[in-house]
Amino acid sequence: MSGDVRRLDEWDAPRLRGLADEFDTPLYVLDPDRVRKNCDRLLGAFPASDVHYAVKANTTRTVLETVREAGLGAECASAGEVRRALDAGFPASEVRYTAVNPPGRDLDAVVEWADEHPELTVTVDSRDTLERIADRGYEGRLCVRVNPGVGAGHHAKVTTGDAPQFGVPYDRAPGLCEAARDVGDLVGLHAHAGSGIMGEDLSAHEELVRRMSALAGEVGEDGSLEFVAVGGGFGVPYRPEEPPLDLDSVAETTREAFDCDARLAVEPGRYVVADAGVLLTRVTATTETPETTVVGADAGMTDLIRPALYGAYHHIDCLAPDAADREATTCLVAGPVCETADILGEGRSLPEPRRGDLLAVGNAGAYGYEMASQYNSRPRPAVVTVDGGTVARRETLADLTRLEPNYHT
Ligand SMILES: *Cc1c(COP(=O)(O)O)cnc(C)c1O
Repeated sequence: MSGDVRRLDEWDAPRLRGLADEFDTPLYVLDPDRVRKNCDRLLGAFPASDVHYAVKANTTRTVLETVREAGLGAECASAGEVRRALDAGFPASEVRYTAVNPPGRDLDAVVEWADEHPELTVTVDSRDTLERIADRGYEGRLCVRVNPGVGAGHHAKVTTGDAPQFGVPYDRAPGLCEAARDVGDLVGLHAHAGSGIMGEDLSAHEELVRRMSALAGEVGEDGSLEFVAVGGGFGVPYRPEEPPLDLDSVAETTREAFDCDARLAVEPGRYVVADAGVLLTRVTATTETPETTVVGADAGMTDLIRPALYGAYHHIDCLAPDAADREATTCLVAGPVCETADILGEGRSLPEPRRGDLLAVGNAGAYGYEMASQYNSRPRPAVVTVDGGTVARRETLADLTRLEPNYHT
């Protein structure tokens, strides 16, 4: 179906070149309109359900406000994310905090805010977490995170459904639900089976949904559960030849497997923002080696760590105006950090690269800027909208040292 994904070559190249000239590189470019369209498609596919954006994919204020205006709620993984969601105007009733081994400081903050906003929902992943929030006087809305024991995912490091550290084991969930009812109002169940549901993975997703609705029947037979969240993990096609996720078929499979009275809730992160962002980087040097042409870029793992961390594929295009006239050659695109992992792409066919060329890295809107670091004392890149509005300014060298009281210039 057209419109299901925005491919890298559908971005307006002259406009991207203009933004790189104006704001310098490395530069993230975000298209809020694309975020809105992705939200609309999700709401259309899951009409009678809660759709909550997993904000960790991209927490910039621009994205949060766009998502809120589109009508999604916010799924938060930390106190910092809850703060950002509330500050961006999400009503507390649409904000859920799902703690994974939460630090005490996070619990202190969230319990305090829940006092002010009793509509907030806190998801607990263990008996210890439950006791720790009870010790802080929390008596509000609770949800229990269950490890459903099924996994779906494109890489072992982002498959959480069968990883033992996420949630209480399935057969212990009823016990934790009972304990939660002694502390506050148990309003939901939650599971998230990792990221990367694409067409062939639907059976694992279906199994998760089935198990969760069976559990809801068991612990919520009195009709007290408001929702059952079955996680995010809706995949996006990172490679140009990959077809987009058939969202309607995922929604249909989910609805058919979801057999309970509570409302269905989904929590997509990547799907909302991945294809709404590109990373622009300039070629700083090219080196012919016997094996390949090494293309040095001014963006690397500190700007976009997914290739280094997960071996993730991000498509790379050359935006040089005369790119079509050049011969293709096989390239290794490497960043400026002295680490063998600092590679944006290898074995890529690119128009013969030259110093100064602008490259665009696709599907960089999710887990890109969000995971950027200052390793190698590299200031984090700027983020702008396609219209040239500032989402986040570029860090300066002074930003690198501002937390160190003993730093003197
Ligand atoms: C990260 C996360 C999500 C979103 O995952 P995506 O793959 O980005 O859709 C949803 N729910 C929870 C609890 C998460 O931690």
